[in-house]
Amino acid sequence: MVKNLRKEPMIDFKKYQIWLLTGSQHLYGADILKNVERHAIEISQALTLSPHIPISINFHSVVTSSEQILDVCQKANNSNGCIGLIVWMHTFSPAKMWIRGLDSLNKPFAHLHTQYNMEIPWSDIDMDFMNENQSAHGDREFGYIATRMRKNRKVIAGHWQEDNVRIQIGTWIRAALGWHAFQNTRVARIGDNMREVAVTEGDKVEAQIRFGFSVTGFGSGDLAVHIDRVSDKQAAELVTLYQESYHMTAEVGSSRSILEAARIELGLRSFLKQGGFNAFTDTFENLHGIEQLPGISTQRLMAEGYGFGAEGDWKTAALLRAVKVMDTGLAGGSSFMEDYTYHFKQGKSLVLGAHMLEICPSIASGKPKCEVHPLSIGGKADPARLTFDVDEGPAINVSLIDLGNRFRILINEVEVVKPEQPLPKLPVARVLWDPKPNLVTSAQCWITAGGAHHTVFSKALNTQILEDFAEIAGVELVVIDGNTNYREFKDRLKWNEVYYHLFQNRL
Ligand code: MN
Repeated sequence: MVKNLRKEPMIDFKKYQIWLLTGSQHLYGADILKNVERHAIEISQALTLSPHIPISINFHSVVTSSEQILDVCQKANNSNGCIGLIVWMHTFSPAKMWIRGLDSLNKPFAHLHTQYNMEIPWSDIDMDFMNENQSAHGDREFGYIATRMRKNRKVIAGHWQEDNVRIQIGTWIRAALGWHAFQNTRVARIGDNMREVAVTEGDKVEAQIRFGFSVTGFGSGDLAVHIDRVSDKQAAELVTLYQESYHMTAEVGSSRSILEAARIELGLRSFLKQGGFNAFTDTFENLHGIEQLPGISTQRLMAEGYGFGAEGDWKTAALLRAVKVMDTGLAGGSSFMEDYTYHFKQGKSLVLGAHMLEICPSIASGKPKCEVHPLSIGGKADPARLTFDVDEGPAINVSLIDLGNRFRILINEVEVVKPEQPLPKLPVARVLWDPKPNLVTSAQCWITAGGAHHTVFSKALNTQILEDFAEIAGVELVVIDGNTNYREFKDRLKWNEVYYHLFQNRL
């Protein structure tokens, strides 16, 4: 049982594809349409081979009529493997023929504005060439109808052989994979909410309508039943795996705490597997029947791709699950996070991010230590946890909040920095960052935007992926970055309030 713990990846990208649709019309004759198809196949194959693009882009068809477009869109809707469409008008494709199809499409789409040839063939260009290569205006006609229909989509412009175009396509595909994951995210909310906490609550019904993920409540006893079924032998085997995987003293390795932590991990796995959950929350106040707050188990489950939110934070748990799908195969890692405490220093104030226990070792610098210490709150036994530092480099903090009438995604770009000194007495994983544009403006903006104290912290994803994700979701995105100015930021929040009030039902 224990040996198989890490064998199944939580998402298999090979199961998913993007369909490339190329718009045209019948005016040009069969020869040109054949060339259009040949070019589209060549482009889809070249893009699929790009290291920036995580899944196959399969050429689907050259479409030349309203009926054909509707048919493809309906097939895309019904396909389990198709997670989105990329559309490109090689020639002119009168866009009224796209209305029925786009109206029925319920998968994300990106509009690739490119053309087959890179340069104008100065000495050879003639009217045949002009007939065949009309993306420059064909894509504008398509863009008009998509905008006229208020369709959320990403417009990617540039030549398909350029790296920056491929990076943009790959980024959007990751966002579409995250969106697909959101539709299939099931959050187990164990022990409800930390008492009286506001930001971790919210409208779960609206979240399911808007994002697709579901949240189901359980008592801690429902998990305790699974923990109680774990034998000492099974728990001891898992402790051996801990010893192989982490730095651990002999004292910790032979402690009752670590054995109990392993029992909790196996019970938690069994509980999540039985219910088909890929994300969960718990809370230190509601642990009836469970000896310790799950620490190392939660950390290890996050590292495998489970979403997690502490204190009942189902929004962060669901968001982390989507982020874990989006960051699959990328370097850096992503974790549940909390702004914990500040280092105010003239000119370079910093934030120490941590949690009581539950930081994902995917962001760890080197091999984590496994330690057992008291928790100081909650009144339970001393929990086992992994402790580590995090390497320097760019990262983002992301918060999904419920504003009552809609959801908002908030991002702060940060730079992870090395601690000035070691933190020998701090018994939790931690990361120190310099928020953009600086701590004061970042905190002013974050707090004014209603950002939560819990976030998804990611060294693997950038703002662009989340921007594409928010566009697909049709949800507000607000970014605090190096250019953010507090006065302008406040204005933006006010304008957005009006915008989302007016367009809520169109998005
Ligand atoms: Mn917390």
